[in-house]
Amino acid sequence: MSAISSGIASLTIDQVRKGLAAREFSAVELTQSALEFANAENQKTNAYLHFSPERALEAAERVDRKLAAGDDPGPLAGVPVALKDVIVTKGVRTTCGSRLLERYIPPYDATAVVRLEQAGGIILGKTNCDEFAMGSSNENSAFGPVKNPVAPDRVPGGSSGGSAAAVAQGTAVAALGSDTGGSVRQPASFCGVVGVTPTYGRVSRYGLVAFASSLDHIGPLARTVGDAALVLQTIAGRDENDSTSAFAPLPDYVAALDGKIKGTRIGLPREYFEGLASETGDLIAKGVELLKKLGCEVREISLPATKYAVACYYIIATAEASSNLARYDGVRYTSRAEAETLSDMYRATRGAGFGAECKRRIMLGTYVLSHGYYDAYYLKAQKVRALIADDFRKAFTEVDAIVAPVAPSPAFKIGEKIDDPLEMYLSDIYTITGDLAGIPCMSVPCGKTSAGLPVGMQILTRHFDETGMFRLADAFEKAGGFAG
Ligand code: GLN
Repeated sequence: MSAISSGIASLTIDQVRKGLAAREFSAVELTQSALEFANAENQKTNAYLHFSPERALEAAERVDRKLAAGDDPGPLAGVPVALKDVIVTKGVRTTCGSRLLERYIPPYDATAVVRLEQAGGIILGKTNCDEFAMGSSNENSAFGPVKNPVAPDRVPGGSSGGSAAAVAQGTAVAALGSDTGGSVRQPASFCGVVGVTPTYGRVSRYGLVAFASSLDHIGPLARTVGDAALVLQTIAGRDENDSTSAFAPLPDYVAALDGKIKGTRIGLPREYFEGLASETGDLIAKGVELLKKLGCEVREISLPATKYAVACYYIIATAEASSNLARYDGVRYTSRAEAETLSDMYRATRGAGFGAECKRRIMLGTYVLSHGYYDAYYLKAQKVRALIADDFRKAFTEVDAIVAPVAPSPAFKIGEKIDDPLEMYLSDIYTITGDLAGIPCMSVPCGKTSAGLPVGMQILTRHFDETGMFRLADAFEKAGGFAG
């Protein structure tokens, strides 16, 4: 029990595996300890919305039975995992951070959840997030904001703020989030953990509640690059339940972490270094120096369509959201408001159920799709999206990876930007391009500001080159001593 006597705060997946193998603790003991620790610590951050103790203990018993029988319990055996509450779990409440789904109990599991449990993972509970994953600070949750574990007066980032905070706080060894425009990488950067957005289609979206379907990704958060790679390995791969999931073969990400990054050609996009807060810029510059020392060749590149990215994203994402969120009508999923007529019932259900940000986006999305505006906004945005993707395609003929900031500044104060949605949207500038292009991208910690706030460095690679991305991030993390 020694390794878990102080909770699970600093365990990695490897340490869990070794502890189980050496019979230092059983999966049930570890799970009980993790649940106790997470319950107590959660009061400090509000990272979890609810826990799933029965499900967690059943999964832990399965792992212990396999261990006792001498069977392989799987690569994630006994590992306590947190799930963003937009990923559906059979029999376990899934709210999407919304009043509208406050009592929704899904009848099935997301594919990523099935795969995590098949690999021996233990689902501790569901984490707080911006309502329907719309936001950059977690302040749009109907169930209260999350506090950044590193600096409790600051946001953890969003929308996967609860998942990032849980990993940073040590109440989960790994977590799943979702990223549509930066919601895994930006909170990872703000909380000082690793966050990965895989290639679009790499991980099945079956059971991920849709925000903007052509941009939505499930991605892992963890304290080390190796742990994030292993979690991605477990959940990735073709799934018949999601027609957009890719057939591409799944390489061994963990085996690829061989430190061989000498000669890697890295591009620094000029457009991403304008308007950076100085300390963030300095930390990224130091990170780039370290990569040079490790033998990477660094050159400046240009991604000229970047300046259109925020507008393009907020047209496409809101358009898709307005269509996806139409299903919450008081007939399916949700509780129904009482009214005389059908349209009054819709209006009353949605009026009481959706928060301000969702309403804003539904209106914006409906507007850009409406007759007369479709060509001017939605179609134009799709063309711009193609230009953004093309910028990356061209860049990757010259370089193997792109290194950039994740966000213009470190974690901001709770309440600082909530009254200015445009200011909030503008802070997504460096992350939304990766989602629009559908390429793999991640945030890896690269140091702290003088006030002790974590800053992440972003690495982006070609479609399906998660291997190259992880190799670079892992070598960087080890050389810089950045593993959490
Ligand atoms: N911050 C972005 C938004 O509000 C991204 C959200 C996300 O990736 N889910 O839309």
